[in-house]
Amino acid sequence: METPDSKPTYRGRFAPSPTGPLHFGSLVAAVGSYLDARHHGGEWLVRMEDLDPPREVPGAATDILRTLERYGLHWDGEVVYQSHRSAEYQAALERLDADGRLYGCACTRREIADNALPGQGGTIYPGTCREGLPDGRKARALRVRVDTTEVNFNDGLQGSSSQQLGRDVGDFVVRRADNLVAYQLAVVVDDAARQMTHIVRGADLLDSTPRQIYLQRLLGVPTPAYLHLPVAINTTGEKLGKQTGARGLDTADPVTVLPDVLRFLRQELPQSTGPLAPEELLEWAIEHWDSARLHAVRTRPAPAEYLGN
Ligand code: GLU
Repeated sequence: METPDSKPTYRGRFAPSPTGPLHFGSLVAAVGSYLDARHHGGEWLVRMEDLDPPREVPGAATDILRTLERYGLHWDGEVVYQSHRSAEYQAALERLDADGRLYGCACTRREIADNALPGQGGTIYPGTCREGLPDGRKARALRVRVDTTEVNFNDGLQGSSSQQLGRDVGDFVVRRADNLVAYQLAVVVDDAARQMTHIVRGADLLDSTPRQIYLQRLLGVPTPAYLHLPVAINTTGEKLGKQTGARGLDTADPVTVLPDVLRFLRQELPQSTGPLAPEELLEWAIEHWDSARLHAVRTRPAPAEYLGN
């Protein structure tokens, strides 16, 4: 795909957070991003989003990688670990700061909750510390100033989306009070560093995308193409995950699970006489991948057997 002086024409990725074993919902994002990349002759990389030690489960990263391999999802190149990339995040923070885009914020979660309106990325920060810290208060987090420009993008599945960050989100955190870099910044720095051209991920991140595009513009890096897949939900409408008790797929049989993932993604299945090995089924699915078969919905119920207890 890539010659020394050309940019890749398609480079995609799967970026799991190692908070537990892969479950049906995360496998949907893995398979969707993999098939879209391979169908377009692209590269597919894996990035471990292990930036948040309190939320991590020891061994989960290794376990996720082993599960991906068992499901026939073989990635290109080395796995990137966000925990090894603090210098790059720091450089991005310094650049934003040098451009006058950041300010220290002393507000606690409680204070914000008491004064803020709900917005598209949680509560809308009311701007308390925007013009300077109140007397006697110390900065806890760093926020990026947003403006009133409309951020528009055309999602490959969900259609056109638009946010006016000042109105819908407010100045957002790029370095948290616990000193960890925020997801929004890390993802932009990492996608740019590896020259990602296509981001295929769950629609729970659709509302984060304008913030990421805004940071891309401030940092002067390209905006990739986006396609946000429907997110697998349980019977009460919650996203499958550790908190909702989703069943881990580390011990499940890929031969039965992969066809369910393809059905969830509304893809055709081969009319074969017997079960196919993961690699064989994926080979077929790469050839027949058609993202237009997916409906532009943000959520879809997961099959009952993946909901756990
Ligand atoms: N780590 C994020 C998650 O597991 C995905 C981030 C992304 O794809 O941009 O939800």
